[in-house]
Amino acid sequence: MIYSDAHCHLAPGAQNPEIACRIYNSAHVADWAVAVDISERDDDKNFATVGIHPWYIADADPGFESMMIDILTAHPNMMVGEIGLDKFHPDMPRQIEIFNKQLEIATSFRRPIHLHCVGAWDKILHIFRERGEKMPPAVVAHGFNGDAGQIQMLADKYNMYFSYSAAHDDDKAIARISATPKNRILVETDTFESIDEIPELDSAINVIAALYGRDTEEIAEQIYQNLQRVISYVRPID
Ligand SMILES: [Zn+2]
Repeated sequence: MIYSDAHCHLAPGAQNPEIACRIYNSAHVADWAVAVDISERDDDKNFATVGIHPWYIADADPGFESMMIDILTAHPNMMVGEIGLDKFHPDMPRQIEIFNKQLEIATSFRRPIHLHCVGAWDKILHIFRERGEKMPPAVVAHGFNGDAGQIQMLADKYNMYFSYSAAHDDDKAIARISATPKNRILVETDTFESIDEIPELDSAINVIAALYGRDTEEIAEQIYQNLQRVISYVRPID
């Protein structure tokens, strides 16, 4: 089985070396130095992002944009994340402001974004619509919890990928996974800890394989290939 983790965080220590590809997401400015270290390994397996999560917008001091620009300039293999909106966290106007700034930077550097959206899909889609063609090359909707009926549109219009974890096994999640095209689906742990990711990735893959009526190895390979397409924007295939 080939395992890939589309969304995890910067855990101390090593994680399972058998993971063929993983994307470490920054949550706040304090993560960026570690994210840069991971990117500088340039091992073709571990990728990282710079960004400010909507829970940590208090970190967004006035210097954050130029810092982010410097890091992206120096590291063409880095993406932007974890960015987005969360209705259960304070100060939505400020969240929108910080999200817009990061979206603009990702667009100008042509880097995929890793999106956190909780209860704010209407706002996110409004922002995307207003931007027209000025969008990043791909969007990874991590822990996707939006409307299953919009999945195809989001994939077509915004080159969106949909990432699910082992926790996504209730009826609504099942409807979303079933509506997600096979070439758009990803799995993630979203872990902040140094764990063995394989059991968690396995349960997510099992749910998806059962829904698609395919075997787990085929689905794991498909998921890996999907993540490679996201990464192809920061690691051009020669
Ligand atoms: Zn996360």
